Amino acid sequence: MPVATSSRQRASRRQNSEEIEDARNTQVKKDDDVSDDGQPVRTKVKKEKKGKKKAVAEEDDDDVVAPDVEDDDDDDRINVANFPDQPLAKADLHKLKGISQDWEAMATQIGQQTSIYKDVAIAMAESGEMDTNSSKDLQMLDRDMREFLDVCTEMTLHAKAIDALHQRIASGEEVTDPQALYEEGLQQGMEAYAGKTTRQKYVKDKRYNDFQTSIWDVHHPNEPMPPLTNFIPQEDGDDSDDDDDLEMGGATQNYNCPLSLTVLVNPVTSRICGHSFSKDSIVEYFRHQNRPIKCPAAGCTKSFRLADCEPDPELAKKVKAHQRRLVLNRDDSDAEEIVD
Ligand SMILES: [Zn+2]
Repeated sequence: MPVATSSRQRASRRQNSEEIEDARNTQVKKDDDVSDDGQPVRTKVKKEKKGKKKAVAEEDDDDVVAPDVEDDDDDDRINVANFPDQPLAKADLHKLKGISQDWEAMATQIGQQTSIYKDVAIAMAESGEMDTNSSKDLQMLDRDMREFLDVCTEMTLHAKAIDALHQRIASGEEVTDPQALYEEGLQQGMEAYAGKTTRQKYVKDKRYNDFQTSIWDVHHPNEPMPPLTNFIPQEDGDDSDDDDDLEMGGATQNYNCPLSLTVLVNPVTSRICGHSFSKDSIVEYFRHQNRPIKCPAAGCTKSFRLADCEPDPELAKKVKAHQRRLVLNRDDSDAEEIVD
């Protein structure tokens, strides 16, 4: 108990001290801590609290005892059927939000590890494997990568099922069977996902895009990747209407900054639209502007603020690898020329 200890310490210090002035100061301090009956204040408060608790407990006892007196049917009292589940209260909403956020955080955390698949894919491509269409090994890796993304999606679906529950309660609905609703919501989400075609599942996934682009870049450092649909055969349910959307997938890979038109330096990526810029260029673009401005990337209709741009170390790595391969290719062609 810090107060008691320190006042005791002060007391002993006072006894040892020869200086009257010091003693007076300490006395003033000591008076603060000690109530009229000489007990340290905090200890006293605690005792009072304890006493209150006890009083409350006694009241509770009365409540329990009271109906007992009139109740002549003892069996009824412990019949579980008399205690139906209570609906989740609005006070529980923040707990639901917390669980949902935990799922999201887990999905994000684990989802970031897809870079491992990408790194392995690059190593395989550099050792001669061409792409996921022609290389058996890359095909296997591709399958693992997709399964991994499925797991991430499943975790997100857990979060969504809880969010749906959250919404029901927030809108005033009485929810007495959250478990059943949660499982039902999750089941529906899983079935909807299982019903999607391979293209629908992965083509728009940035991580899958990165994975395929990385393989492509090893062999074609100067060419943008063709649409991802080149690597995923059409299935029933892939109608051609989707294609415009899907083809946005791979083709935009480009390591030049849309502002400086030179290769990206310290790339930052807009959270709003996914376009990337050299840091210096985008900072200049936003000079004296705090409001959102239209994205400078050609054809992009989104607007964002400078604060929406985050450093993109993954992209920086890709730019580096890209430049390294450009140099290697140049060396190769130089060598060929010499041989010729
Ligand atoms: Zn943009």
